[in-house]
Amino acid sequence: MSNRRTFAIISHPDAGKTTLTEKLLLQGGAIHQAGEVKARGEARRARSDWMKIEQQRGISVTSSVMTFERDGVTFNLLDTPGHEDFSEDTYRTLTAVDSAIMVIDGAKGIESQTRKLFEVCRLRNVPIITFVNKVDREGRPLFEILDEVADALALDVSPQAAPLGMGGLFKGVLDFASETVSVPEGGSKEFLDTRKPFSELESDLSEELAEEIELARIGYPEFDLDAYRSGDLTPVYFGSALKNFGVTELIEAIARWAPPPRPQPAGEDQVSPDHDEVTGFIFKVQANMDPNHRDRIAFMRQVSGTFKRGMKLTPSGLGKPIAIHSPILFFAQDREIADTAEAGDIIGIPNHGTLRVGDTLSEKNDIRFTGLPNFAPEILRRVQLKDPTKTKQLRKALDDLSEEGVIQVFYPELGAQHIVGVVGQLQLEVLISRLSAEYKVEAALEAAPFATARWVKGPDAAMTEFENFNRANLAKDRDGDLVFMAKSPWDVGYQEEKNPDLKFSATKER
Ligand code: GDP
Repeated sequence: MSNRRTFAIISHPDAGKTTLTEKLLLQGGAIHQAGEVKARGEARRARSDWMKIEQQRGISVTSSVMTFERDGVTFNLLDTPGHEDFSEDTYRTLTAVDSAIMVIDGAKGIESQTRKLFEVCRLRNVPIITFVNKVDREGRPLFEILDEVADALALDVSPQAAPLGMGGLFKGVLDFASETVSVPEGGSKEFLDTRKPFSELESDLSEELAEEIELARIGYPEFDLDAYRSGDLTPVYFGSALKNFGVTELIEAIARWAPPPRPQPAGEDQVSPDHDEVTGFIFKVQANMDPNHRDRIAFMRQVSGTFKRGMKLTPSGLGKPIAIHSPILFFAQDREIADTAEAGDIIGIPNHGTLRVGDTLSEKNDIRFTGLPNFAPEILRRVQLKDPTKTKQLRKALDDLSEEGVIQVFYPELGAQHIVGVVGQLQLEVLISRLSAEYKVEAALEAAPFATARWVKGPDAAMTEFENFNRANLAKDRDGDLVFMAKSPWDVGYQEEKNPDLKFSATKER
């Protein structure tokens, strides 16, 4: 069986993802220095300064995928950019993992972005291990948190640990399986690897706390591997990323329970990881990492086979084979040339724009992976060109950037102004700076009278009628597919009701 565990961490900003990532890397044979993650954490807070975004992009290529080993298991941790605005990039990264850790702040519970990311995981039945962070601080009562996760996400929760008090009263974290308590030590009250039998500490607990812990142990479903793997149950750990509590337990849980590489859907079929042929799909493209070169790195999630350097693979979008001479495997301190990779691994493929998000790569060009969605944009803007002679350059730039997944572009059926759609505000800033820096196109964005968009499909007759009635609200996306630009969510509901034969989708699979 595969020893790969490919996962991501989902959380709301400030819940502690960066800190936890550092600690996970330190636990394993860390490939990247923890400081690198930290540097990125700070860099990303400077949001509008383009140079800083660029810098962050430069750094984040090495931390986009973090590989580490522990006890014979290879972990591939994929970074989901943690901006306050979520982006399609984040969503797509979740299509390339087999499981996720959901980090929540013990004082705040489930926050908006956690919920959105969770929904994406649920769409794909990605199993989730929950980590309730910051138990060294005053937080919400144990039950409140457990019940909130269960109710908000409609999941069974199965606590695996419990904090012995929080904040000033914090005495450690009890691990249910081993009946041991990891205890705080030293001035900083960190976990320095001392575990005591629970029986030694039990008598010191207040009656209330003892009762709470007993109930947490018996009042919730027991862990069930099938229920977890199918996304119906989440084991819950409590800890402190900052003080190192619960981190070992978490990594062991991933090694023990998280699924090895899963079969991936390809139309009606599935491609299993032990299929002989090398196959994979591109889930992310990062461009212009070096301002002097128009280089791009496409990130391929390998689905099956054993990849060897120099191998020829055919990208579905190109239709003819390319030799992968200098793949990047994220195994080393720096970018390192990979010799081999397996199902579950991520390979960075340098290219000049031949590889697009959603492309399948295969040896025989006989497989198409499905299920890599585009998401309905939540912010739509008209692009206004400052110099009208640059329409061609603008179109080229918008096509390029939409290929990369930075934005989505819509060409209205009526009117000449292109519309761009994004799922997060930051993408708009990136768009304007890149148009100017890379394409020498000065543009501004103005409000568009639309709130969201839906891809529309259905029988010809119904489509024609719909198109005739709604011309002013229709556009084509970059692939020429029909999109309904809705003035409000209500508008979507109204059209759905009025056109029962048509399907209005918030995602589009490539
Ligand atoms: P991210 O935005 O989710 O990546 O969060 P960070 O890891 O950057 O953490 C946000 C803030 O919470 C930082 O100031 C951290 O030092 C702090 N933090 C993270 N984990 C803990 C924890 O376990 N306990 C406490 N007290 N603070 C924490």
